[in-house]
Amino acid sequence: MIEFDHVRKAFGDHVVIEDLSLRVEDGEFFVLVGPSGSGKSTLLRTVNRLVPIDGGRVLVDGQDVATQPIEALRRGIGYAIQSVGLFPHRTVAENIAVVPRLLGWPEAEIDARVAELIALLKLDEPGIAGRYPDTLSGGQAQRVGVARALAARPKIVLMDEPFGALDPLTRESLQASVKQIQRETGTTMLFVTHDMDEAFRLGDRVALMLDGRLAQVGTPLALIRSPADERVNEFVGGTR
Ligand code: ATP
Ligand code: MG
Repeated sequence: MIEFDHVRKAFGDHVVIEDLSLRVEDGEFFVLVGPSGSGKSTLLRTVNRLVPIDGGRVLVDGQDVATQPIEALRRGIGYAIQSVGLFPHRTVAENIAVVPRLLGWPEAEIDARVAELIALLKLDEPGIAGRYPDTLSGGQAQRVGVARALAARPKIVLMDEPFGALDPLTRESLQASVKQIQRETGTTMLFVTHDMDEAFRLGDRVALMLDGRLAQVGTPLALIRSPADERVNEFVGGTR
């Protein structure tokens, strides 16, 4: 479970998150959607403490992230972003294996997990495990980034526009893979996108973020059928 409890964040005078409270339940696929600059990435990054907050608390499984050892916190939370950030001098397999290796998994278990993820994420081009990131297509690199985030079977995964730069078909295929893996493993997913279609396709619940606040939180159907106000209606493309 991830809990945001009256979270506030400012960069200098610029308040980016304002008194925000939200609970993401265990096993839930939760999508934060909203326009550029609304504070989605900032909020996501408070969970693994890439962004320190100025007020309130962020709790993971009831524990305040501010009081946890940072390495343990980050190893327990998968994180995938649009600019994948693979290690260029490591092979695909080595990139996927980073966290399990840090956690001291036995070699055979790591190999098995890498092979499993390569299959799950449809990366099964012959010999791909031994290739280096600069030989991958954009879509393949994104898949490796997602595989790396999932590798150690974290209970919580954060994804920030992980399919941002992909063509529609590749994007749909990756969305389906991620949704399937999340369901089968009961992972708690906090997923950021500015694409409403993606949010509605993936989210058990969706929060629309506008100017550092949550304009509405609910199921995709609730946002479409009963938008809280005109701004929500406009963003979800409603015709109310
Ligand atoms: P996008 O969809 O474009 O990724 P976003 O909703 O993820 O947008 P954030 O990246 O959270 O938005 O940024 C929210 C606001 O905070 C923006 O105005 C941004 O300029 C500002 N901001 C983010 N990080 C910093 C920083 N390190 N220093 C100063 N301002 C920042
Ligand atoms: Mg962002």
